[in-house]
Amino acid sequence: MPENRPPSEHLPSPLIGAERRELLLREAVRQGLLDPEETPLAAFLDLDAVTGTVAALHAAFPAALDVRHAFAAKANPLGPVLRRLRALGMGCEVASPGEFAQALAAGFPPELIVLDSPAKTRRELALALDLGVTVNIDNWQELARIDALLAGRRSAARIGVRINPQVGGGSIAAMSTATATSKFGIPLADAGNATRLIEAFRARPWLTELHCHVGSQGVDLDLMATGVAATAAFAERINRELGRRQVTGLDIGGGLPVNFADDRIAPGWDAYVDRLRTHAPVLFDGRYRLTTEFGRSVLAKSGFIASYIEYTKEAGGRPIAIGHAGAQVATRTVFMPDSWPLRISAHHPSGRTKHGTPVPQDVAGPCCFAGDLIARARPLPRLDPGDLICLLDCGAYYPSNHFSYNSLPEPPVHGATTTPTGTVHFTPLRPAQPLEALLTPTPA
Ligand SMILES: *Cc1c(COP(=O)(O)O)cnc(C)c1O
Repeated sequence: MPENRPPSEHLPSPLIGAERRELLLREAVRQGLLDPEETPLAAFLDLDAVTGTVAALHAAFPAALDVRHAFAAKANPLGPVLRRLRALGMGCEVASPGEFAQALAAGFPPELIVLDSPAKTRRELALALDLGVTVNIDNWQELARIDALLAGRRSAARIGVRINPQVGGGSIAAMSTATATSKFGIPLADAGNATRLIEAFRARPWLTELHCHVGSQGVDLDLMATGVAATAAFAERINRELGRRQVTGLDIGGGLPVNFADDRIAPGWDAYVDRLRTHAPVLFDGRYRLTTEFGRSVLAKSGFIASYIEYTKEAGGRPIAIGHAGAQVATRTVFMPDSWPLRISAHHPSGRTKHGTPVPQDVAGPCCFAGDLIARARPLPRLDPGDLICLLDCGAYYPSNHFSYNSLPEPPVHGATTTPTGTVHFTPLRPAQPLEALLTPTPA
């Protein structure tokens, strides 16, 4: 890597951009993956772009450090996606029995799986301990459960405690996990907790890690790094007061925000690592094994959702284009439009990009409630029935977190790769949910 490369905040990825998306969309139409009658809605993940993103993540941390990058499964738990991320050298962060099972099925070795749910059952904990999966304890009662479970078994699991560094929230309240009253972790600044934690570590030599996750989207890099710094400082304090290096691992969570405004990867991991170096230099001196838990930033920019426009109309002077992508695939955008705006691109039925004078239009989904709008008064070339639209930056959380409103089935998700000569290959990441799957069998 040349020394004088530009800061990653402004580094355009050649694999992410309008031209690349247009190519994939045109090929998807040509190869029949999108069809106005059969498949009016489908999601795509550019697997070449994902490969580049994961490589950038690995490159952002010094090679000499012991870093485990555990992909946050909730951002996209589809089996082929998890298997691909495993093949690219990632681990997996899971937070429910379902995600735990998905990570195991995808072949992640237990030592690359991190279990973080705030509501782990005894059975889930026992399985993690027996397999040797890393467990981050969320609260005092869970600590007591682990005590009881360890009394009867040997375990190779790395066990840590999630602390809430209480450094404050970001711009999206529901995504801010380090506020004073957050439901996650043990609040470090609350009266008595720091000393109680030190004593808990003293009594339990098997407690060897600290974990924090400051927030997801809407949290700025300095706030994230401040939370990590508080966690690292507390690890140092535990080790100092115990007079031994008991805490050997730091899990710094995920949460790198994604730029939904244009095609730039901003901020990049380099920028975050730079902030971490400033706030928590101890992370880089090689004394701690590190774990990260990025989700959204690993996949968001590499995915899009494509939908045909079925009808167009005018109401109260406003043009409205009605398509098939609505709250079922873009739940957060529809219910919290100010926090989760999505870019939309307009295309001819062939997939070719549509040019033309932008006209403010509402872009509506298929759900039967008035608020099912992907965008309001969005300036776009005037959409016509049969056109295609793409919702951009949807590779994480969107198509994989389906909302079953109106019995709308899960759309297919396709992975795309391109040969050096430019041939686009699609592989199924999830088949379309057949309508039969929505028919609950009548009890006998
Ligand atoms: C959601 C979550 C993540 C991933 O957050 P992103 O914003 O997708 O990077 C990581 N760790 C924990 C504990 C989480 O809850």
